[in-house]
Amino acid sequence: MIPFVDLARQHAALKPALMQSLERVLDSSRFILGEQGAALERELAAVMGVRHGIGVASGTDALRLALAALRVGPGDEVITPAFSFVASTTTIVMTGATPVFVDVDPATYALDPAAVERAITPRTRAVVPVHLYGHPAPMDAIVDLARARGIAVVEDAAQAIGASYAGRPVGSWGDVACLSFYPTKNLGACGDGGMVVTDRDDLAERVRRLRHHGDAGRYRHAELGWCSRLDEMQAALLHVKLAHLGAWTDRRRAIAGVYAARLGGLPLGLAVERAPARHVYHLYTVRHPQRDALQTMLADLGIGTAVHYPIPVPAQPLFGIDGERRWPEAWRAAREVLSLPCFAELTDGEVERVAAAVREACARLR
Ligand SMILES: *Cc1c(COP(=O)(O)O)cnc(C)c1O
Repeated sequence: MIPFVDLARQHAALKPALMQSLERVLDSSRFILGEQGAALERELAAVMGVRHGIGVASGTDALRLALAALRVGPGDEVITPAFSFVASTTTIVMTGATPVFVDVDPATYALDPAAVERAITPRTRAVVPVHLYGHPAPMDAIVDLARARGIAVVEDAAQAIGASYAGRPVGSWGDVACLSFYPTKNLGACGDGGMVVTDRDDLAERVRRLRHHGDAGRYRHAELGWCSRLDEMQAALLHVKLAHLGAWTDRRRAIAGVYAARLGGLPLGLAVERAPARHVYHLYTVRHPQRDALQTMLADLGIGTAVHYPIPVPAQPLFGIDGERRWPEAWRAAREVLSLPCFAELTDGEVERVAAAVREACARLR
């Protein structure tokens, strides 16, 4: 059996260094808002090409805090893709603002800038481009549109750490960007974690305050905040892993290259990398009109796969919007997408076996 993802392989390889980093935190016994977190914030801000990083409790909180720092709230509209992980939208709802769904590009699954432009109203306060699967959204067009109208850009880079667009890192295009360290993400903690990154001093300061009870220093609480910090244990573990992120990304890209070479010519939509984007393949996602049958056959052939995501965001029971006519690509993607194993520790032999199994399953489905 080839698993869809296997974090134990990564942790076995790094175990001595990870244990050492935990021991250092335990010895210091400083667990919240200490040197580990501050160091990671500096390191990741540099990776993302901005000046500030603010560690928070999750990617979801990073989005919520970024929107709150922008003072998005009731009466505002925020543009978000109809096809993404649900947190790209629920965090907008949490602020009291109204999410405005926009359809995605069928090849990259990114926000379609023309559709974004059509969705803008006088109440639009922000747009949330998601770099889904690790493929950057077309940031030049989205930022141009937004800047011209005074609309904020909040990048959901939860799946795309290390990706870039036109040579510039994702996370440095918008006003603010959000990272997730959910364990299976490209840079995953051993628990929950996230970070807000930004070049704007005002937003950085506000997120710092909001993540820590609205604290303006010395137990003076200037405004209503939350309790959402990245703890020192997670920061220390992430520091160890960050040193490997470049090599892991190269390996994911090499695996994607093998899939592209072996799976051409099948009735299968492959993952694309559309210039000038640099994809980090958090997920290698294909599409097939008989997705469920393909997934079952691959399971029978010993290949683990996953569906990201089976339900378009507006159709989630929590929203309950029947929007297939308005956002047809989101609905079609939810029916057709299938993610293949694509993690750095896969062996060359395993990658070849996945590709052979996909070829065999597609032949049987013809
Ligand atoms: C994972 C993810 C989030 C949320 O991150 P958590 O750390 O799980 O809260 C938000 N948006 C996208 C696109 C994600 O993949």
